[in-house]
Amino acid sequence: MTSVFPHKKAKALKPTSRRPAKDLCSECGLCDTYYIHYVKEACAFINQQIQTLEAQTHKRSRDLDNENELYFGVHQDMMAARKQQPIEGAQWTGIVSSIAIEMLNRGLVEGVVCVQNTKEDRFQPMPVIARTPEEILAARVNKPTLSPNLSILEQIEQSGMKKLLVIGVGCQIQALRAVEKQLGLEKLYVLGTPCVDNVTRAGLQKFLETTSHSPHTVVHYEFMQDFRIHFKHEDGSIEKVPFFGLKTNQLKDVFAPSCMTCFDYVNSLADLVVGYMGAPFGWQWIVVRNDTGKAMLDLVQNQIDTQPVMSQGNRKPAVQQSIPAYDQGITIPMWAAKLMGIVIEKIGPKGLEYARFSIDSHFTRNYLYVKRNYPGKLQHHLPEFAKKIVQQYNLPD
Ligand code: FAD
Ligand code: SF4
Repeated sequence: MTSVFPHKKAKALKPTSRRPAKDLCSECGLCDTYYIHYVKEACAFINQQIQTLEAQTHKRSRDLDNENELYFGVHQDMMAARKQQPIEGAQWTGIVSSIAIEMLNRGLVEGVVCVQNTKEDRFQPMPVIARTPEEILAARVNKPTLSPNLSILEQIEQSGMKKLLVIGVGCQIQALRAVEKQLGLEKLYVLGTPCVDNVTRAGLQKFLETTSHSPHTVVHYEFMQDFRIHFKHEDGSIEKVPFFGLKTNQLKDVFAPSCMTCFDYVNSLADLVVGYMGAPFGWQWIVVRNDTGKAMLDLVQNQIDTQPVMSQGNRKPAVQQSIPAYDQGITIPMWAAKLMGIVIEKIGPKGLEYARFSIDSHFTRNYLYVKRNYPGKLQHHLPEFAKKIVQQYNLPD
């Protein structure tokens, strides 16, 4: 008799084995499990299928003629929000951890897939299925490295859990949605964050050493809406480095090839997305994609302040200028970078226009990267929405 779960006959790859997506593997974790059986359909870097999975998850794919959907994906609501009492040590105000804790406390889920770090290294990701609020809290703050979140998929089945929340970034969620029906769950909730420019653990070290004055004391960093990277150090001090002053020539190869070919910055397949880039400084940005996402957000309504999203400025000149800087690895002197940062912060894009700035500059860069390094993949790997976005710019050959 044929098994209902043919994947159970497959074998996880050894940690040292080359992954099916080869250099483009983002270490999402799927291939660490017997769900590798589905890798050819499920892997975000082998079979880009965002629009099909949008229809499966949200009952329709995004409307390419609606500018907000073109950029931010299928959604029914968007807002800026922040916790009235931020969680100490969270990446922003801790909305992600708070939603996960509420879902667990109210019995909506039996476990939460999230990422803690190892004892030895605060940035070494360690995916877990959290079953207590303490375990969720121990996963707060970004581990800004590729994280094999889906490596826990076999444990889900073994645990017998039927209701699960998964927290993750776009490439992990695309593979998860592709195998969702094979997991034997009654209900899967997906809480996503946007994600861009991720790195391997070794790449992270190079980035910190090239960019921060004290790489070993960095506890947290973010590419902020004021066009600077804010590094938070162990003593609480904040170091700010302008984006335009990055040593692009030394950092050209630091970002993982998977992230240089990714067009799912906004985590299109999550039920609810919590980031920051479409919100005013200090606020988080929430995208409610479907009714499940709305129900998740409702759980913390009494813990957050909200305000409508806003949009201001014109991103296009800044994006057009960023194209040769990325493409040719141009580094400008620090004094000029600081000056540019100050001017752009005063007159530059804000709110949703800042989010579009960040999407446009990464999509144009990634389009050129795929075109130069994987020309045969360009047609299928580039989703329709990304084609429409990059067509707005003059791109070098
Ligand atoms: P917290 O309550 O601190 O919880 C953070 C959650 O993130 C934890 O549950 C943890 O499990 C999960 N997590 C941590 N590291 C990883 C990882 N490597 N992979 C998967 N899950 C992880 N937002 C933007 O608007 N623009 C961006 O460009 C952007 N880039 C990001 C890049 C990365 C690598 C990550 C992980 C997130 C990024 N975000 C981005 C999201 C943003 O930085 C915050 O994570 C988000 O706003 C939630 O903040 P919080 O305080 O609510 O999270
Ligand atoms: Fe496997 Fe994930 Fe790597 Fe694709 S990205 S090869 S699914 S581990």
